[in-house]
Amino acid sequence: MHRTSVVVLRTVCSLAAAAFLARAVRADDISERAHKLHFSSIVLDTHDDTTQRFFSKDYDLGKQNPGGHVDIPRMREGGMNAIFFSIWIDGRILGPPAVQKALDQIDAVRENVKKYSQDMALARTAGDVRRAHVQGKIAALMGVEGGHMIGNDIRVLRIFAELGVRYMTLTHFYNDEWADSSTDKPAHNGLTDFGKEVVREMNRQGIVVDISHVGDKTFYDALEVSKAPLLASHSSCRALCNHARDMSDDMIKAMAAKGGVIQINYEKSFIDQAYKDAYDKETGGVAEHIGAVTRNCNNDEACISREMAKLQQQLTAEGKLPHVSWERIIDHIDHAVKLVGADHVGLGSDFDGADMPDGMEDCSKLPKITEALLRRGYSEGDIRKILGENTLRVMEQAERVSRELQAQK
Ligand SMILES: [Zn+2]
Repeated sequence: MHRTSVVVLRTVCSLAAAAFLARAVRADDISERAHKLHFSSIVLDTHDDTTQRFFSKDYDLGKQNPGGHVDIPRMREGGMNAIFFSIWIDGRILGPPAVQKALDQIDAVRENVKKYSQDMALARTAGDVRRAHVQGKIAALMGVEGGHMIGNDIRVLRIFAELGVRYMTLTHFYNDEWADSSTDKPAHNGLTDFGKEVVREMNRQGIVVDISHVGDKTFYDALEVSKAPLLASHSSCRALCNHARDMSDDMIKAMAAKGGVIQINYEKSFIDQAYKDAYDKETGGVAEHIGAVTRNCNNDEACISREMAKLQQQLTAEGKLPHVSWERIIDHIDHAVKLVGADHVGLGSDFDGADMPDGMEDCSKLPKITEALLRRGYSEGDIRKILGENTLRVMEQAERVSRELQAQK
């Protein structure tokens, strides 16, 4: 090789090496910034189905559990310092038995928080969440997932509020007596008059109106009636994955225009179209499949979640369901942010109630979300909003509306 060529080649090589090193340093910089940002932020997950596990003798919230997605050690590892424990029972249980079962779960959350009071504090307000964070504790909140649990009796809503319930999803997979679900045949044309009264009473009690699971007409009715911003505690974007459980762009825009927040759900069939299509083909749709498993399990919740996970693993192993990367979560966050801005997007994993994508196996993986958003050029302020501040703002607004309405009485 000619001597000049060698010199040029060496120069090119060292320039390339320098560029590579600079990139590596920048990459490390981002990791470090992400770590600091994540572990100094309030990371609030608005939907976790961990509550049902409290009834299993094999589960201990204070220990790392082999199954499931959430426990105190992994919340610490993943910097998840505020959590909405979901109060959920099958949507076909109605009346007093539904109220009784909901109270059992509210009690189980409260008792677990008491048992682990070194690590956790029950939070009723955004202020309580902030105080728990200052004390280095995980804030525990409660959301009732399905209006059927008030047993068609508005007084029960007031009792739930008194016990610390801070949001209520108007329906679950099935219509309840006063609201249509997104995964059932419409029966009420959205919200009935009583349903609208439920929303008004939720406003008075400072319970955030959650529109995940509800039919589109129910959503628009709730948006019109509610004096406080709405929350979609665990829904993703229909523009990226056409699932009835997700929100259309028009819905996301309408909710954001009134101050609400969409909390992105990590469930594979809600975030990835190819997976959803394959899942529907194999099982006949999520609602039908859950219905069949529920019947086979005789309503035993631990059995239901075990059987759902087993089938999903089996179908994936057989190649009938495609793999889904955790980065799809980031795509949904990014889509919603581009649509309505970073003030209206947050995190509602559905941990312990859904099938997680590869790389987001449990709550210890949450710091990856912060790092991915930094790498996509999000500001630290915007990332803090997405991690938890937006939900706290919605809670504060619900608290203010509640004070105003109660003062009018
Ligand atoms: Zn749900």
